[in-house]
Amino acid sequence: MSKQIFPKVVIVGRTNVGKSTLFNRLSVDVKSIMLDQEGVTRDPIHDVVFWQGHSFELIDTGGISLRKTDDDILEQTRKKALAELENAAVIIYMCDGKVGVLPEDREITNLLRKFGKNTFLVINKVDARVAQEQLHEFDKLGYKQQFPLSAQHGTGIADLLEAIVGAIADKPPILVEEEPECKVVILGKPNVGKSSLLNALLKQERSIVSSVAGTTREPIREQITFYKDIIEVTDTPGIRKKHAVHDELETMMVKTAMGALKDADIVLLVVDASEGQVADQELKLMFYAFKEHYKAMIILFNKQDIVESYEKETMSSHLAEYEYIMKKVASLSISCKTGKNIGLILPLIEKVRQRYTQQLPDDELTFLFKEALIEKPLYRQGLLLRVARVNQVQTGPITLVLRVNLPQFFGDKEFGFLESMLRKKYDLKGVPIHFIARKH
Ligand code: GDP
Ligand code: GDP
Repeated sequence: MSKQIFPKVVIVGRTNVGKSTLFNRLSVDVKSIMLDQEGVTRDPIHDVVFWQGHSFELIDTGGISLRKTDDDILEQTRKKALAELENAAVIIYMCDGKVGVLPEDREITNLLRKFGKNTFLVINKVDARVAQEQLHEFDKLGYKQQFPLSAQHGTGIADLLEAIVGAIADKPPILVEEEPECKVVILGKPNVGKSSLLNALLKQERSIVSSVAGTTREPIREQITFYKDIIEVTDTPGIRKKHAVHDELETMMVKTAMGALKDADIVLLVVDASEGQVADQELKLMFYAFKEHYKAMIILFNKQDIVESYEKETMSSHLAEYEYIMKKVASLSISCKTGKNIGLILPLIEKVRQRYTQQLPDDELTFLFKEALIEKPLYRQGLLLRVARVNQVQTGPITLVLRVNLPQFFGDKEFGFLESMLRKKYDLKGVPIHFIARKH
């Protein structure tokens, strides 16, 4: 499976010069928000444009200001725009012909020059007489290719399109592999051995390292596809690099984890077993990923080579307290240093992936839960709870919809009971179950 990546044409310019108007004129079916208000279009907007046999991806960067600002949203917009420019085949710098040349236009022009890309100057709003009159002012900016046009009225658009197509003629779309089947994210505190683990895994496998869109300066993630191209691992260098003080660490871990978790199927949580216990934030992360977000979970107890019997004991008594979740997640004791059990990790990931994406037979599920409630009837406020039918409506995570008589009484405890029955019957180690109760 593969998909096409088109050459990118990026529109930049101050707010209100007419970027969204141009974007809408060029792209047929994407509407970016247009308002007479500064900074309305804040996210880059993408669309693929076809013109005379050529295709390109058009990107509207919601306004770029060179100046760093304290306003978080504006600063993010600026960084996003810079990241888009990095990947551009053509940059369109758009000015407002009615306003004329501002000092900021010079600054931005200087910045754009540094990217060394094909850069066109678009002078918009030439339908206005004042714009016509001050057109020559823009010569000062020193662009080789200038396009006076009216985004609103459509005059001059064809010339611009022709120039774009000329510039990308030698840049055909690139075919890239489609999404991998299984996305794995490596999480953990600093220094537990995340990068050592990644390196150890990669040594066993052919790997494709792909750079991933973040900001230009600090990539958010490094993604690596390997193991028959079905596993994509996201490493989170953000956690690794910063030498954070303790308080900061928790927020940082959770923050980074939240971002990285969203796309993942399986979380590899690396723990330093030589510490003799699991830290609070590691436990929180486990709950967050497994219970709240229904991600499959493998805990890797690393640094076994330096674990003494004392730490082994404290660790197991500590984990005993969390038995109710520990018995559900998958785990492995490893050492990245000696290579102990490293060879078992990929097969375990594969196994957990199969469990996570399996479809259980609805009839069996229905029978299992009905039986369980006959053997151990559950009463709430004197009323008997009954399950009429069970359907697995989704895989990865396994999501079960239960048709029941009293959905309001089905909560953690009741689902917990049914889940334990499920785990006795099927091999679900490492895999969460998402229960939903609906009125029969
Ligand atoms: P952006 O902030 O750069 O995306 O600008 P918009 O596309 O939202 O346009 C800002 C304002 O300029 C809007 O009121 C548009 O109607 C107006 N505008 C856009 N293009 C033209 C044009 O070609 N001529 C005139 N006169 N106004 C335009
Ligand atoms: P990260 O910050 O989680 O990516 O951790 P690193 O992979 O950079 O490892 C942190 C430190 O722990 C480094 O000095 C590694 O050499 C060391 N380390 C990693 N795995 C092991 C292991 O299995 N045993 C021992 N003794 N040290 C390890």
